[in-house]
Amino acid sequence: MNSKQSLNEKPVHELLALIEKGEIHPRDVISDLYRAIAQREDQIRAYISLAPQERLMQECERLRDRPLRGLPIAVKDNISTVDLKTTCASRFLENFQPIFDATVIQKLKDAGAQILGKANLDEFAMGSSTENSAFFPTRNPHDLGRVPGGSSGGSAAAVAAHEAIWALGSDTGGSIRQPASFCGIVGLKPTYGLVSRSGLVAFASSLDQIGPMTQDVRDCALLLNCIAGRDPQDSTSVERPCADYTQELGQEIKGFRVGVPQEYIADLSGQAKACVESWVRTFRELGAEIVELSLPHTEYAIPTYYLISSSEASANLARFDGVRYSTRASDRSVEAMFAESRSKGFGPEVKRRVMIGTYALSAGYYEAWYGKAQRVRALIRQDFESAFQLVDIILSPTSPTPAFRLGERLQDPLAMYLSDIFTVPASLAGIPAISLPAGTIEGLPFGLQLIADKFQEAKLLRAAYAFEQATRGAA
Ligand code: GLN
Repeated sequence: MNSKQSLNEKPVHELLALIEKGEIHPRDVISDLYRAIAQREDQIRAYISLAPQERLMQECERLRDRPLRGLPIAVKDNISTVDLKTTCASRFLENFQPIFDATVIQKLKDAGAQILGKANLDEFAMGSSTENSAFFPTRNPHDLGRVPGGSSGGSAAAVAAHEAIWALGSDTGGSIRQPASFCGIVGLKPTYGLVSRSGLVAFASSLDQIGPMTQDVRDCALLLNCIAGRDPQDSTSVERPCADYTQELGQEIKGFRVGVPQEYIADLSGQAKACVESWVRTFRELGAEIVELSLPHTEYAIPTYYLISSSEASANLARFDGVRYSTRASDRSVEAMFAESRSKGFGPEVKRRVMIGTYALSAGYYEAWYGKAQRVRALIRQDFESAFQLVDIILSPTSPTPAFRLGERLQDPLAMYLSDIFTVPASLAGIPAISLPAGTIEGLPFGLQLIADKFQEAKLLRAAYAFEQATRGAA
C-alpha cells in the first residue's frame, strides 16, 4: 500500500490517470493531503485558512464526472473565494469574506476543482520572502531556517511540502517564479492579459498576473488550460483562440535558438555560474543553438519596476480606508478615521510602497519619476522585442541566490528589492516566464528561468518540458 500513502506526492496528471483507471478515488488523495497537513503544517505554516476535510470529501461525489474530479487546489490568499476568507495576509482584511469568486476560481470550480486552503503571502503580495505577512512567516520545506521566497511563499511551500498537489499564485515582479525557485517547484507567470485578474486583489494592475505553481511542467500546462482566456470582467484580458498547452509537450526542441543575456550572467560566480553552464550544455544536447544576447536596459529594471508598481499600489490601496473594508480605527473625524485605520491596518512594507508611490505620482514630480519610469519601461520592452527577433526563448537563473535565511534581509529593503533583478524585466515587458527546478546550491533548490515572447506559452512549456525530461532525477 505504499503508493496509497504517497498520493499527495504525485503530480495531478498522474492522479487523474489513476482515477480514470479506477485505481484510486479522489477521496484517497484528499485524506492523504490532510494527513500531510496535520503532520507538517505546524512547522511550515503555508496556510492562512483551510477548508474542512469533511466538506471536500462530501463534494467529491458531485464533482466526479468533471475533468478535475474534485481534486483540491491551494490558492494564494489574495485571490477572492466565497468559501474562505481572503485576507491578503493583512490586518486590514483579517475578516474579509468576498461575495464572489475570482474568475480563475469560478473556472476551476466549473472544471471540478475544490479549494483546499488559502496560502500565506507577503502582505498584499509586496515582498520576496513571505516575512511581510501580518500573521506569520512561512518556512522553506527544504530548510526550516530559510524563507520560501515570496510573495507566493505559502503556495510554493505547500506544493513543495506535499501539503497541496498544486496551487495558484500571483506574480507582479516575480512572486510566482522566485518562490518556485526557492522551493524547487515549477511556477509560470503568463503573458499579461492571458489570465483574468478579476477577483485578484490588485497590487500593480499593469503587471499583476495569476499563474500555476505545480510539481512538474505537465501540471503547469494543465492548470494553465483551466484558467486562461478572455473574461468580460477584466478588460485587459485578451481574446485568443482556445489553446491546449499540453499539446506541444514532448515535441523536440532541435533547432530552437536559446538566448543567454550577458547582462544577467555577467556578475554570477561560483555555483550559480556552474548551474548556468550546465543548463546551456543540456540545451545544446537537446539540439538547441545557444545565442549570446544583450538586453542593454536591464540595469534600470529594478528602479523602473519599484516606481511603477509602487505608484499603482498607492492608487489601488486607496480603497482601504476603514469605510469600505474592515478594521475601522476611530470615529473622531473622517480624516482621523482614515489615517488611523490605515496606520493600524497596513504593515511597514505596504506603508513604504504607498509612500514611494504617492511621492512618485505627486504634482511636480510625476514627470520626473513616474513619467520617466514609463519611458524606461518601453525601452525594456524593446530590448525583448529585438531579442525575440533572434531567439525563441531566453535562459537565466530565476534569482541570483537560493533561499536566504529568515530575517537575513528584513532590515535591508533594498537588498530584498535587488534580488528581483532577473524576474522584473519580463514583468515590465508583459511576457511569459517560467521557473523550473534545475539543480541545487549547497543543497538548496536553484531555479532556471525561461522567458518567451508574448503569448508563446506553448513554446515556453515545450522547451521547459524538454529540459525537465532531460534532467529528470538529476537535481
Ligand atoms: N518581490 C517583488 C515585490 O516585492 C515582487 C512581488 C510580486 O510579484 N507580487 O514587489
